[in-house]
Amino acid sequence: MTDQPTTVAGVLQHRALVTELPGPRSRALMERKTAAVASGVGTTMPVFAAKAGGGVVVDVDGNHLIDLGSGIAVTTVGNSAPRVVEAVQAQVAAFTHTCFMVTPYDGYVAVAEALNRLTPGDHDKRTALFNSGAEAVENAVKIARVATGKDAVVVFDHAYHGRTNLTMAMTAKNMPYKHGFGPFAPEVYRAPLSYPFRDDKTVGGQAAAARALDLVEKQVGAENLAAMVIEPIQGEGGFIEPAPGFLPALAAWCRENGVVFVADEVQTGFARTGDLFACHHEGVVPDLIVTAKGIAGGLPLAAVTGRADLMDAVHAGGLGGTYGGNPLACAAALAALETIEADGLVDRARQVERLMKDRLHRLAADDARIGEVRGRGAMIAVELVEPGTTTPDAALTKEVAAAAHRAGVIVLTCGTHGNVLRFLPPLTITDDLLHEALDVLADVLGATR
Ligand SMILES: *Cc1c(COP(=O)(O)O)cnc(C)c1O
Repeated sequence: MTDQPTTVAGVLQHRALVTELPGPRSRALMERKTAAVASGVGTTMPVFAAKAGGGVVVDVDGNHLIDLGSGIAVTTVGNSAPRVVEAVQAQVAAFTHTCFMVTPYDGYVAVAEALNRLTPGDHDKRTALFNSGAEAVENAVKIARVATGKDAVVVFDHAYHGRTNLTMAMTAKNMPYKHGFGPFAPEVYRAPLSYPFRDDKTVGGQAAAARALDLVEKQVGAENLAAMVIEPIQGEGGFIEPAPGFLPALAAWCRENGVVFVADEVQTGFARTGDLFACHHEGVVPDLIVTAKGIAGGLPLAAVTGRADLMDAVHAGGLGGTYGGNPLACAAALAALETIEADGLVDRARQVERLMKDRLHRLAADDARIGEVRGRGAMIAVELVEPGTTTPDAALTKEVAAAAHRAGVIVLTCGTHGNVLRFLPPLTITDDLLHEALDVLADVLGATR
């Protein structure tokens, strides 16, 4: 019996290099990119995509790459997922845009109903739709400010909330996100995170929350604070999972002090972490939750969902935008949500976690450069350090990622110190492909010793 790779969305599920990477067609396109596209828009790999589905991206030279990136946690249900394709094709033939603020349509309402039902908490909720994660984060802050009549916003070390002016202020890392782009929006304050790998081992979740809240009380004051915005597991900042108890303690303090607790689940949402939302893990119920990335199978859509009394505090016409909740994106979102449910993708994310952590822990057992294996679901990372220390090794991380890329595995890096390899496979990836990608990772790590 031969093991033939399966086909998903017309793409053979295997890794196959038919040229060096990048191949001649990608190199030619890269030349055109350099001549036509602003150089500030970088690329992780100099390889152009032609087709993608399941756990594979096919490039313009016919190389089949294993996808451990999902276009940065977006194609959780897979690229060109069948239900998404069908729903978008039907919608694009019906109408492409009317603007929900001019003549509304039911897809937007249905997405709002779904998010109100599925997001944490069974309280009365409302939703507003936007185009990008950053735009939705901005709107969550607008809503919190109107609802509380206060100005200040607290964010955390290593946070990533986007690239617009307000969200640059909220994002922690200077290079490349903020450098030279200021001045930034005022009234944004940064508190220390719970970062178990780097915190003193005696600092559990409660103590880390007390440390953050002491700073907030002394430097900001609850009476000035509209919102506290936090990623339940940090994405760009390094896949940092706070110690248990940290998030519930912050949420409780916000509730007691009239501060809107905003969960930025742009990266963690929609089954990615092995729960539908990462807040579910510790039963945290945010006042507002911001979603995007995995929401619509690759189409641009974002949302703010939350307490009806907060959401409805904004005057009519105060929220919106020309494209927010575009009908194609809404059709895609409904199909993506149906796929998550019908195909059991929350469970699939937990299987991916077991498989990946099992392999990565075994790798770490005899490689002291792997300081920590962490993450949940299909959001897994390894932090690379100088052996026996917590000193970040960004050069090694870069080298390993580049070698994986040359071998046909799409991996991303992250972390304030650039020393975290992150894995965000689509949940449609096969176990065989995951194992093969981890074999490649083991080989390239071994080759750098
Ligand atoms: C990606 C991301 C954003 C920004 O989303 P965009 O769609 O790129 O604007 C905000 N918050 C988090 C946690 C993210 O991962």
